[in-house]
Order: sequence, then structure tokens, then C-alpha cells
Amino acid sequence: MSATPAAAQRIGVFGGAFDPPHWAHRALAETALAQLALDALLILPTGHAWHKSRALTPAPHRLAMCRLAFDGLERVHIDARETRRPGPSYTADTLQELAAEHPGAQLFLVLGADQLLAFQSWQRWQEVLRHATLAVANRPLHADGRVADGPVAEPDLSGIDLPFEHLQMPLHPISATAVRARVRGAAGGGQGGSGGLNEFSTAQPALDLLVPAAVARYISDHHLYHQPE
Ligand code: ATP
Repeated sequence: MSATPAAAQRIGVFGGAFDPPHWAHRALAETALAQLALDALLILPTGHAWHKSRALTPAPHRLAMCRLAFDGLERVHIDARETRRPGPSYTADTLQELAAEHPGAQLFLVLGADQLLAFQSWQRWQEVLRHATLAVANRPLHADGRVADGPVAEPDLSGIDLPFEHLQMPLHPISATAVRARVRGAAGGGQGGSGGLNEFSTAQPALDLLVPAAVARYISDHHLYHQPE
């Protein structure tokens, strides 16, 4: 997970809150690496998420969990630049920097279907399209576009009037919101159970089904996500 090779020609850019990173993020990274034949895939935890209403977990924790969640994937680099940039994190700024650092490279912006639906609300989204090709994985969504954590029919992205490449990946009914709720439930005896993180629960899936074991351990060791949001 060292610096991006200067000669990389096909570079994937995968941004997100990663609060925490979960199995679907890792599956999306693996799919993008293979399907887009990437020389490098940058994982970019956001600094200030202008589009999320809750305060994010401090960046050092999210960066540490990303290192654990994407561990072992060749050509993946954790890139902290957005967490160091003052003010809101805008993808257009990041892509502009990357395009200048890698002249001639082809940039692919990797995202899930919920973000594709919201894309035209992003700051300077037209500029994003000039710098990068969108590469989109489908995701379980309700009919109104909200993320679903349970099984739903595969959302139909064919009517979306934006150019994008479709990443072929099975639907993963996982969200970071559900992970945090699972941890809170297990810690507080709420919906998820009555004891610690390893308590068996039938109400919500076991944490290890949602995040890699090393991330689950990190969450437990650092007492993350125990407080109500
Ligand atoms: P939260 O529940 O806190 O909103 P999240 O699970 O959506 O978080 P993010 O870190 O916001 O996770 O997502 C980063 C990127 O990963 C986004 O482009 C998002 O669409 C994509 N992504 C997240 N979960 C999935 C999933 N289950 N399937 C496909 N893409 C996903």
C-alpha cells in the first residue's frame, strides 16, 4: 500500500466516508481492479463529508480501518489527501490533483448506485466527468433511491442519463449505517443483543458478516460506534 506508481496508466479512484469500511467496499475494490484492469486503485477516505448529516469518526481511525479492510489487495493504495485538506472534500478537487500528478493516465471514479443517483447534486459534477469515467456497481436500493440493507429487486440503472461503465458485482445488502447500528445494538443491549460485540443475535447479522474480522477487532479495541448518532 505504498505511493501510487508514477507510471500508472489506469487509475481507479474510490472515495467514501468508510465509517467503517465493510465487505461491500472490499468487493467493489476487487471488482474494479479486475474488471477495469487497473494499474492502481486509490482508496480516499473523505475529510469533511458535506453530504452526510452526522459527524464522521476521526480520520486516523477511518484510515487505520481502511488499511485493515483492504489489506492484501495488490495495487490498492490508501490515500489520505482528502483528510488533510481543509474544508469540505470535493471529488472534483481530488481528480484535478490526480490528473496533474498523472498526466496521460485514465482515471475511473468507482462508486455505488446510490451515489450515481445523487451525482448531479455533487459540486462541479461536470468537471468530475471531464476528468474521470464513472464506474458504477449496483447496490440494493428502495424504489425512492434510499439504501436498503435487505434483499430487494436489482435496481434498474438503465434510465440514468449519465455516461458510466457498469461494474458487474452481486448485490451486497451492507451499509456502514447498518454496521454502526449493529455495534451499538451489541454494546448497549438494544436491537442487536444484550452483551458484547460477539454476542449472538438473530435481529441483525453478526458483525463478521458485515466487516472483515480485523476491522471488527479494531472497532471493539477502540470502542467505536457505541454512542447514539
Ligand atoms: P453510510 O451507510 O454511512 O452512508 P455507506 O455504506 O454508503 O455508508 P460509504 O463509505 O458512504 O459507505 O460508501 C463509499 C462508496 O461505496 C460509495 O460510492 C457507495 O455507493 C459505495 N458502497 C457502499 N456500500 C455499497 C454496497 N453495499 N454496494 C455497492 N456500493 C457500495
